[in-house]
Amino acid sequence: MKKMVYDFSEGNASQKSLLGGKGANLAEMTRLGFPVPSGFTITTEVCVDFLENENEFPKGMWEEVIKKVRLLEKTTGKKFSDPKNPLLVSVRSGAVFSMPGMMDTVLNLGLNFETVEGIAKKTGNPRFAWDSFRRFVHMYGDVVLGVEHELFEEEITKIKEKKGKKLDTELTADEWKSIVRAFLEIIEKKHGKPFPMDPIEQLKGAVKAVFSSWGNARAIKYREIHGIPHDLGTAVNIQAMVFGNLGETSGTGVAFTRDPGTGEKKFFGEYLMNAQGEDVVAGIRTPHDIEELKKAMPKIYKELYGLQEKLEKHFRDMQDLEFTIEEEKLFLLQTRNGKRTAKSAVRIAVDMVKENLITKEEALMRIDPKSIDQLLHPQISPKADRIVIAKGLPASPGAASGKVVFSADDAEIWANRGEAVILVRQETSPEDVHGMHVSKGILTQTGGMTSHAAVVARGMGKCCVSGANISVNTKAKKFTAGKYIVSEGDIITLDGNLGHVLFGNVEKIPAEIHGDFEIILSWADEVRKLKIRTNADTPLDARRAREFGAEGIGLCRTEHMFFDVDRIEKMRQMILSETKEEREKALQDLLPHQRSDFEEIFKAMDGLPVTIRFIDPPLHEFLPQKKSDLESLAKKFGKTLEEIQNRVESLHEVNPMLGHRGCRLMITYPEIIEMQTRAVIEAAINMKKKGVTVYPELMIPLVGDEKELIFLKKILLFEAEQVIAEEGVKIDFSVGTMMETPRACLISEEIAKEAEFYSYGTNDLTQMTFGFSRDDVGKFLPHYKELGLIEKDPFASIDEKGVGKLVRESVATARKHKPKLKIGVCGEHGGDPASIDFFHRMGFNYVSCSPFRVPVARLAAAQAVIRERKLKK
Ligand code: PEP
Ligand code: MG
Repeated sequence: MKKMVYDFSEGNASQKSLLGGKGANLAEMTRLGFPVPSGFTITTEVCVDFLENENEFPKGMWEEVIKKVRLLEKTTGKKFSDPKNPLLVSVRSGAVFSMPGMMDTVLNLGLNFETVEGIAKKTGNPRFAWDSFRRFVHMYGDVVLGVEHELFEEEITKIKEKKGKKLDTELTADEWKSIVRAFLEIIEKKHGKPFPMDPIEQLKGAVKAVFSSWGNARAIKYREIHGIPHDLGTAVNIQAMVFGNLGETSGTGVAFTRDPGTGEKKFFGEYLMNAQGEDVVAGIRTPHDIEELKKAMPKIYKELYGLQEKLEKHFRDMQDLEFTIEEEKLFLLQTRNGKRTAKSAVRIAVDMVKENLITKEEALMRIDPKSIDQLLHPQISPKADRIVIAKGLPASPGAASGKVVFSADDAEIWANRGEAVILVRQETSPEDVHGMHVSKGILTQTGGMTSHAAVVARGMGKCCVSGANISVNTKAKKFTAGKYIVSEGDIITLDGNLGHVLFGNVEKIPAEIHGDFEIILSWADEVRKLKIRTNADTPLDARRAREFGAEGIGLCRTEHMFFDVDRIEKMRQMILSETKEEREKALQDLLPHQRSDFEEIFKAMDGLPVTIRFIDPPLHEFLPQKKSDLESLAKKFGKTLEEIQNRVESLHEVNPMLGHRGCRLMITYPEIIEMQTRAVIEAAINMKKKGVTVYPELMIPLVGDEKELIFLKKILLFEAEQVIAEEGVKIDFSVGTMMETPRACLISEEIAKEAEFYSYGTNDLTQMTFGFSRDDVGKFLPHYKELGLIEKDPFASIDEKGVGKLVRESVATARKHKPKLKIGVCGEHGGDPASIDFFHRMGFNYVSCSPFRVPVARLAAAQAVIRERKLKK
């Protein structure tokens, strides 16, 4: 039979998938002799089994638990139900990937009317004992028995009003005692059964509740946001309680071995005296800086400092630890690799290599490529006018502006309308995660650098200011900050680097790549095999991408050059032309614009390849809708409004994405490809004359048959030769195709014969392989995800099984016939780390992505190589 329960002394850090992150690390710390309260862990496998079998424990598991309870009683010298020296335990979740605050916890388990007296006597502090008992009954009633949290809160308020008291701390032991009795009555009434007083029964209920909380709505949402699989389950840790709320020589805190916001090598943390762990994280009281502990309890500080140094060395990563001081004795309750901002991740990785703690390869693997686009997020311009309306803690860096909202649900509603929002809360809790996810930034009134808001915002890479000197009125949807009143919908800016709240939308500037970030990317460049190109349609994008390290352009969508107001009209004229003459005239108007854009792009990419794709406009994107546009066009054409309307109507398509676009458009109107070829070659020649090194790659979109390629190539080559002859300057260029229809992939042998390069258009390829419209997928995909019918959005991350199969087989066929064929990708997937790993494995030459994702892709491509090396080993 499989072992289902592990004492902390039996496990180690390598057993994370079985014991969960928390359990494995508690075991490791126990093994190393750190001061960890004793306990044991029920495995994640038990949770999976439990959830699959209608919430029944697997056979034999409970007997194992009882054995471990007895062992725990032996090691602590305390006993469940012993009125003289009772054992109290905490019951906490602990999944493989940390999901802070998302699942349930029960503290102070083991209390009943006998043991509470025992605790009162032992501590000489009846108030503490009864306060703990009411906390336990409340938590258990809520988490295990499903009685609404508010009912308990109301009861406390009632008694406080009756006694004329304001704060919880003013209530006496006897008052807490009567509250406990009232709580028990509420539970019996709501739950239908009396509250369990036997600790073993209490434990059974708590373990079941923690397992079940794997499936609660907020845990599911969290896993969706962070891409954590739903079938892993959570372990449960049962640990002897230690108390940080035994009086003024007790306390509790959270600490990081380095600064999780900046990465600075500096012990960082916060604590509260006479408090339980939840008080620090929940952000209700604003805690003290760990530096103050140095003065308040020098011996404890020294011990803690030593332990954190050892922990970091041992785990070779920045640690996030929880500690409790019980009557001047220090305990560690948890350690884990700390969540950090991208800025901090980069600095820590580089520093740790310099400190010889980790290798360069490890450093590269430590950084989540998805997170590093945070480093390219805008910062507040040093030149901007700053009207500071409030100050708080710089909980998560960056800058963000948006309209103020006061609840997570409102954040979602406003964001769905396309608004940028800043979520303002007194403090955040796990229930707010969905709203935080869609907000640009988060502002809270209370809470420190380790509050829920701070930790979650850093994890999401969002700017956050916590503990600001504001007064939030959630009901009235406004907050006051000194003389300012800010209401829902007003615009503010957060400066997460300084912790400032600024009035209005303050000017921002894009970040640059320098310092440690540059070092990491240069290490990535040493390792990666894939070239990284960019999708850029304008000279500005091209220049920016090159600054970010792009090694060429993988896709220049020529139709996008005509999105601006002046030019779109010319493009519309071209589309709406009825005769070849009309079209040629419109094209002649477009030619100089195209040529000058190409010249600028060639200049920006001097010495690097530039792939220019012939026009591919799904017509609906360009057809005029507004009457004023139609009238203006009619005037230009010298036609009536009605004639133009008729033409627009005649161009209407039922399925524009599968309609008259891509190479089909040029096959019906060859003058388009003639004009565009001329523009590219003339621009290349003009630039070459100026000393720029140009490598144009001309690309034909949406090909489904080699005959399409042959037909268009003939026109293209004829025109190019003509321009070259006219100018008397030779230009090397190549002609390739996009691979974006399933048929092209299926007949790769024939296509490869005609193409000098392949560029996979995985947007259309995904659309056509699934038969999911790119533009309409939002209507059903979220539901598919909820139902578990699809795991991730195939338009964001390549579907290896289906679309990937077409890619794999078409690459293999093409390379069989043309081993040196250059192959790249320019769909959205070119900037997605998981897809980049796939393209690396498929032997692609390059990926191409939007300028801001170029650094992401550089790192992801290096990680793909490292992963492959590890596998080979
Ligand atoms: C694609 O289909 O993947 C592609 C890059 O082309 P577009 O997105 O312009 O259709
Ligand atoms: Mg396409």
